[in-house]
Amino acid sequence: MYEKTSANAGTVWPKVNGKVSFWIDQLGPITKREPLPSDISVDVAIVGAGFTGLWTAYYLLQERPDLSVAIIEKEFAGFGASGRNGGWLSAEAPGKMDNYANSRGTEAAVDLQRAMFTTVDEVLRVAQEHNIDDSIQKDGLLYVATNDAQLERLKQRVEDSAQWGWGPDDIGMLNADELAQRVNVQDAIGALYTPHAARVHPGRLVRGLAEVVESLGAKIYEDTAALRIEAGVVHTDRGRVSAKKLGVTLEGYQATLAGRSRRMLPMNSSMIITEPLSEKTWAEIGWHGAETLGDGAHGFTYTQRTADGRIALGGRGVPYHYADSFDWNGRTDERAVKTMIERLNTLFPATQGVPIAHTWTGVLGVPRDWSATVTLNPKTGIGMAGGYVGHGVSGTNLAGRTLKDFILGKDTDLTHLGWVDRSPRKWEPEPLRWLGATTFYRVYEVADAQENKNKTRATSPLANIANTIAGRN
Ligand SMILES: Cc1cc2nc3c(=O)[nH]c(=O)nc-3n(C[C@H](O)[C@H](O)[C@H](O)COP(=O)(O)OP(=O)(O)OC[C@H]3O[C@@H](n4cnc5c(N)ncnc54)[C@H](O)[C@@H]3O)c2cc1C
Repeated sequence: MYEKTSANAGTVWPKVNGKVSFWIDQLGPITKREPLPSDISVDVAIVGAGFTGLWTAYYLLQERPDLSVAIIEKEFAGFGASGRNGGWLSAEAPGKMDNYANSRGTEAAVDLQRAMFTTVDEVLRVAQEHNIDDSIQKDGLLYVATNDAQLERLKQRVEDSAQWGWGPDDIGMLNADELAQRVNVQDAIGALYTPHAARVHPGRLVRGLAEVVESLGAKIYEDTAALRIEAGVVHTDRGRVSAKKLGVTLEGYQATLAGRSRRMLPMNSSMIITEPLSEKTWAEIGWHGAETLGDGAHGFTYTQRTADGRIALGGRGVPYHYADSFDWNGRTDERAVKTMIERLNTLFPATQGVPIAHTWTGVLGVPRDWSATVTLNPKTGIGMAGGYVGHGVSGTNLAGRTLKDFILGKDTDLTHLGWVDRSPRKWEPEPLRWLGATTFYRVYEVADAQENKNKTRATSPLANIANTIAGRN
């Protein structure tokens, strides 16, 4: 437990940088599962052992325990974003509802949102049934405004959400006093609150799920990299996996596979986590529940209070590296660490000088229209799900259930949701992709600074320019 003294004030630099994530590191040494021993043939092959792949396998084997399911994983289950995220299990549908309505009609978009509400409880149910992640707690989600423009946007978001199936019990605004009863955020003037969210420990959830999936009969081959995927076969660096139905669940890593670059931008998101805070510090912060908490800025910050009394905080850091490159083990660059520590200290001044235990970075998948897709090509038997744009912890569960229905050839409510069978256009070739992604995040930073300074309710026009460059309008 950390106690602040004059001697340690200011010594905050992370003790560990990279090493996948704090969540994975906290679980102890990793013993990898056996790689693919030779060419095999199975009913279903899934590529990528993150939440999407694991949930797909889970529901497949719940319904059809007779199927042989192989999961091909380059590193180990949970190595990707699923073992690195902020632990927000939230009912916000990933991506833009307008895009889903435009693709498949308003009703299908609303159905998607309704399915997301129940998805949070579905994950809780499975976690409880199989005794996975006892730190899960459903206390809702707060987006805190610290200036008038942010407050106005959050109010607008609440208003807009009504058209997508959110009722007054699903979402609303808190004034500054109501917010202070839950948590003290410096300069907060109000917040959006929804009860539809839970805090999870991503490492426990993904590792626990992998063990459950294995116990149901799936075979997870780790240290086995897919190199190329074609109808009926996954070519790996260890041999071939033949299967009539394939699920590609690589999210931000898709771009590393032959023939799949430009479909999904591998966007970085970085995190820091403190050592456990003292009772005194928590008393100042006053965050007694497990609400996941974000801000209303364009360069979004997300936080959680962990079950063992730390604050985990994430933000974009360096959002994109040229030509889809990224640090595989998740090292965070110094500027991003500094920015995140500053943000932590600004939101919660009581954390000044608190040591940071770990920093890490992961990649998430961003399609060109910033909206997710679940699909299966009946001709090739190749399915995919992903593009959750940083909101995949719950989305992966719904996507996994949907991909399961596609693989089993079923026509269900899930196979008609708003995000099904979409094919957004590709990202621009380099250097345009890098220029665009770097520019719009830089412009968001300037827009945030402008809104802090201007003290008006209007969103900075620069943010609209950044949204246009990004394709998020
Ligand atoms: C830092 C960070 C914070 C986030 N915070 C949140 C949050 O709080 N809430 C939220 O909802 N979402 C959050 N997200 C997004 C969320 O984590 C992802 O949307 C979700 O985990 C995606 O799961 P996935 O299974 O589709 O992909 P991943 O978990 O990325 O899994 C893909 C897997 O494929 C493997 N792989 C890669 N290449 C190959 C290959 N060639 N062959 C075989 N396997 C391969 C990888 O090792 C990895 O295990 C965050 C993401 C990041 C990076």
